[in-house]
Amino acid sequence: MNLSHPRNFSRHAPSTRPAPGRLKFLLLLCVACCTAPASSREIALTFDDAPRPSTALLGGRDRASLLIDQLQRAGVEQAGIFVVANRLDAEGIERIGRYAAAGHMIANHSFTHTHLRTMTTEAYLEDVAKADAALRGLPGFTPLFRFPYLDEGDTVEKRDAVRAGLQAMGYRQGYVTIDDYDWYIDALAQKAVEQGTPIDRDALCRFYVTAITAAADFHDDLAVKHLGRSPRHVLLLHENDIAALCVGQLVQALKQQDWTLTRVSRAFEDPIAEQTPETMLLGQGRVAALAVDHGAPKASVFGPYEEEAELDRLFAEQVIVK
Ligand SMILES: [Zn+2]
Repeated sequence: MNLSHPRNFSRHAPSTRPAPGRLKFLLLLCVACCTAPASSREIALTFDDAPRPSTALLGGRDRASLLIDQLQRAGVEQAGIFVVANRLDAEGIERIGRYAAAGHMIANHSFTHTHLRTMTTEAYLEDVAKADAALRGLPGFTPLFRFPYLDEGDTVEKRDAVRAGLQAMGYRQGYVTIDDYDWYIDALAQKAVEQGTPIDRDALCRFYVTAITAAADFHDDLAVKHLGRSPRHVLLLHENDIAALCVGQLVQALKQQDWTLTRVSRAFEDPIAEQTPETMLLGQGRVAALAVDHGAPKASVFGPYEEEAELDRLFAEQVIVK
């Protein structure tokens, strides 16, 4: 809760003419109100799994063009693009180059996008190194690594060995603070298009925006409750069609809901970057993990719009044209 925000001041008209001292106090209060920042909630956008393949809705090149254009129009100066490096054929390299040229940060999301729990530590770190070799020379590259599926392994030993291996390679973690089900909503839209089921694209964007903004609020509330402050957030999205179609509306809604869009490099400078969680419940992002470390019940750190049956029902109700 940001107590400096104007909406938290009650506005009662004084019933009598204020005394001079009171007037001075009111003037000072007014100056404080007018100069207070609109919001202390900061958020950066990140897009995983780039460059994703073409779909029935959008070709890969068109998706990249649309996403870059939407981000630019929405005033997003620097988003994070997390790359799966075995997708870097000629077209993939060109697309990643266009994101970098537009000012976005390029980072490592592995070579093969595999669950750590299904690999040995050695094989996993080799996979990261292979991606590093493909990415390091590209413009905009920053040595941040994001675990595919946010999976940091099934044992403490493996988790810690991979964390140490990444550090030895000069990597910092490309953690997220806000987890959500954008990928599932995109998959529902893809399935409908492939099956020839008509969808309302405006309703699709409204559904996406509602789900993502609710996830952002949920994780910010969790942070304030369990960490005592609102960190600069890193929002997990994917380089998918729904992002290309709806991210402009998403940014607009975030701004209307008192979020300030920030550069992703600034978000990763937040002190939360140094707070590595101890819990093994890591698949919901860093805020949820740290909340568990601070005593939050595990069942309480799962955000809204993550129940697949509920998402199926809402999608059928709101997005499919009857
Ligand atoms: Zn991924």
